[in-house]
Amino acid sequence: MDMNEKNIEQIVKQVLSQMGGSPSAAQPSGKVPNTARVAMLTELEHYDIKEFPIPEVGDDDVLVKVEGCGICGTDAHEFKRDPFGLIPVALGHEGTGEVVKVGKNVKTDSAGKPLGVGDKVVTCMIFKDNPDITMFDLNKQNVGGADVYGLLPDDDIHLNGWFSDYILVRGGSTIFNVSDLDLDSRILIEPCAVLIHAVERAKTTGILRFNSRVVVQGCGPIGLICIAVLRTMGIENIVAVDGEEKRLEFAKKMGAEKSVNFKNHKGIEELSAAVCDAFGGYPADFAFQCTGSPVAHSNIYKFIRNGGGLCELGFFINGGDATINPHFDICAKEITTVGSWVYTLRDYATTFDFLKRAKAIGLPMSDLITHRFPLDKINEAHETNLRMEGLKIAIVNE
Ligand SMILES: [Zn+2]
Repeated sequence: MDMNEKNIEQIVKQVLSQMGGSPSAAQPSGKVPNTARVAMLTELEHYDIKEFPIPEVGDDDVLVKVEGCGICGTDAHEFKRDPFGLIPVALGHEGTGEVVKVGKNVKTDSAGKPLGVGDKVVTCMIFKDNPDITMFDLNKQNVGGADVYGLLPDDDIHLNGWFSDYILVRGGSTIFNVSDLDLDSRILIEPCAVLIHAVERAKTTGILRFNSRVVVQGCGPIGLICIAVLRTMGIENIVAVDGEEKRLEFAKKMGAEKSVNFKNHKGIEELSAAVCDAFGGYPADFAFQCTGSPVAHSNIYKFIRNGGGLCELGFFINGGDATINPHFDICAKEITTVGSWVYTLRDYATTFDFLKRAKAIGLPMSDLITHRFPLDKINEAHETNLRMEGLKIAIVNE
């Protein structure tokens, strides 16, 4: 090391210490420290930042230095109630980072793209012995029930979640080289894959077309990304429905032509008339239901024309029963309904191209990430998430 390098290293260390960076997070890429910080959920509503030794990288393994990871609704449920009974657990499954070490057998990612040190990656599900889940099994099976990093029981490796400095991706996992996407796009891959899958499900009805009038109900991250996916497909006649003006404004930036605030309309007749008005006097050809509210599910049939279609994707947890009128809502209207649940491995790969198209047509995807917290502020990040103050909240390592 010459004098210059030494100086630079010293300056970097100084700057990082002023920023409050910890020594294990401050290693430049390529140099791997002996230990890594892992945010472990050790009890309900509390993470401890633990330090674990970085293990040997096996012949089929990939060691990744974490750059960032979004907080998912699933993480919020684990934080509040631990429904999967995983505590103590290293959470975080919407993560991305840079490869710092690869085992000697690792040459390509799960799609066959070359993979090596310096590449930016994301992971998807972990294969066990289910041969039905493969890259080329198209839409046959989604990841429901499969293992993913960030929702694994703790083991003696501990580097199992993306809320950490480093994660050890073991052989038999799926990993993708996404070096051609920026950090924000990479953090958004997992939630975007949910919408790629939903739109693929919607397309199976044969009703969704370029000139369709489409209503998107619910403008949280899922509804907003739904609008973005529709726009990148060339569908322009989109009406967004929500009860918050700020979210409806964002929906318009994402490409919705009109918006309807349900709080401004009394009763379902007035509300469905407002949706009709927004389409110039016509009901929707197709609707995406992106809220977890049973009432919203009951309402949405009234927005759809005879022979139209509906994709329900809002209930990732049990939100209770919804009332429908089988005569008016289903029989007389002949509405074709599909449900959508997570995504397939193939949808995951499709998502990378969607994110490039979204950027190319100027959709403000990065603005979906409203809050960024460093790893040691992870408790605060989750509390902010529970207060529903922002849209997507992310842990971003310095
Ligand atoms: Zn998730």
